[in-house]
Amino acid sequence: MSLVVMKFGGSSLSTLEKMKHVANIIINRKEQKNKIIAVVSAPGDKTDELVTMIKSLTEKPSRREVDVLLTTGEMISIALLTMTLCNLGEKAISMTGYQAGIVSDSNYTHAKIKKINVDKINEYLEKDNIIIVAGFQGVDINGNLTTLGRGGSDLTAVALAASLCSNYCEIYSDVDGVYTTDPRLVKKARKIDFLSYDTMIEMSETGAQVLQLRSIEVAKKYNVSIYAKSTFNENSGTLITNVKELRRKKMEEPFISGITFDKSQVKFSLFGLPNISGIIAKILVTLARGNIIIDLISQFINSNNENNIVFTVNKNDMLKTKQELKILMKELQIKTMLVNDKIVKISIIGLGIKSDPNIIARIFSMMYEKDIDFEMISTSDIRVSFIVNEINMQRAVESLHNEFKLSKIYNKTI
Ligand code: ASP
Ligand code: MG
Repeated sequence: MSLVVMKFGGSSLSTLEKMKHVANIIINRKEQKNKIIAVVSAPGDKTDELVTMIKSLTEKPSRREVDVLLTTGEMISIALLTMTLCNLGEKAISMTGYQAGIVSDSNYTHAKIKKINVDKINEYLEKDNIIIVAGFQGVDINGNLTTLGRGGSDLTAVALAASLCSNYCEIYSDVDGVYTTDPRLVKKARKIDFLSYDTMIEMSETGAQVLQLRSIEVAKKYNVSIYAKSTFNENSGTLITNVKELRRKKMEEPFISGITFDKSQVKFSLFGLPNISGIIAKILVTLARGNIIIDLISQFINSNNENNIVFTVNKNDMLKTKQELKILMKELQIKTMLVNDKIVKISIIGLGIKSDPNIIARIFSMMYEKDIDFEMISTSDIRVSFIVNEINMQRAVESLHNEFKLSKIYNKTI
């Protein structure tokens, strides 16, 4: 008998009807001679609803109490799904994060898992129970409830698989898997059959929303392969695993895997700074002290010997950044500050990007051809990112998808 850790997202659990469907998937998997742990999210948009309630109540809630409230969503799912399984004649038991032995630090709303005491889980597994675990939650060493960051049920599932020495985890949601780009934006988007951890990490980091970023990082660290598939059909999903395993299966990742976009950034431009040494450093240190994370950044001296700096931050930090910069403008005699939140960061991701200089040339030749302005280019080993105006987002993503023939590449199995 082997252990299978499964995870079901909120949209797979939004009604009792859907819970029954999920219960049947679990039973099927069990009948294939497996021991089952199923991690569940809160039903439907429950977590969002709870967040909205908090916002309507107070601007500055206690983060401890936020977590007490948010953990209730997943508890609804574990109890109802377990009852559904029992109704269908199965032996099943629910476990909260605490009961499952998930110990985290005390950083409420973004807690990190420190360890998992699997004794209780093992005990229930030995007694042939299907175990339904509440995702997204843990408990700190003082017994306080914590949550693991939005989308954290993926992390619970991967971490449980790793702690139970399983190298495999199935993540079920309302999409077939990971796509070459968002199918809601580009009709020709195709499902990707397999991806390496590194490519998937870059895709999540730059906007792909199928899996929580931290869960893939943990999967990579403990070598847990993730199979992401749909709850609602039998289509094959996406396997995310290590490169060695891909080679073993004679699967070679294509040069370009996908195109992602991220609308969560805002661009700040500071023009006409005196060209004196240390001025840029002073701005960056001030932002760092305010815990403001800069993503893309560029700097140039113009013909009047003035310094100029342009950078992007997350929209959540827009007000804070404005306030900090307004103070600095006076102090440092900065002439102009422009703020633009109508921008999108587009990223092209693929293992081949570094090894083929033509790829970057192709990306930007195509943007010129299509007359799409772009700026603030940044690259990593397997990614090229840049900023465009949001009105050009669809055209840019679609054109890149065509340029690299992603719908053709992924239509055949490699
Ligand atoms: N229910 C939580 C959220 O919506 C956790 C999850 O879905 O994974 O963020
Ligand atoms: Mg959810």
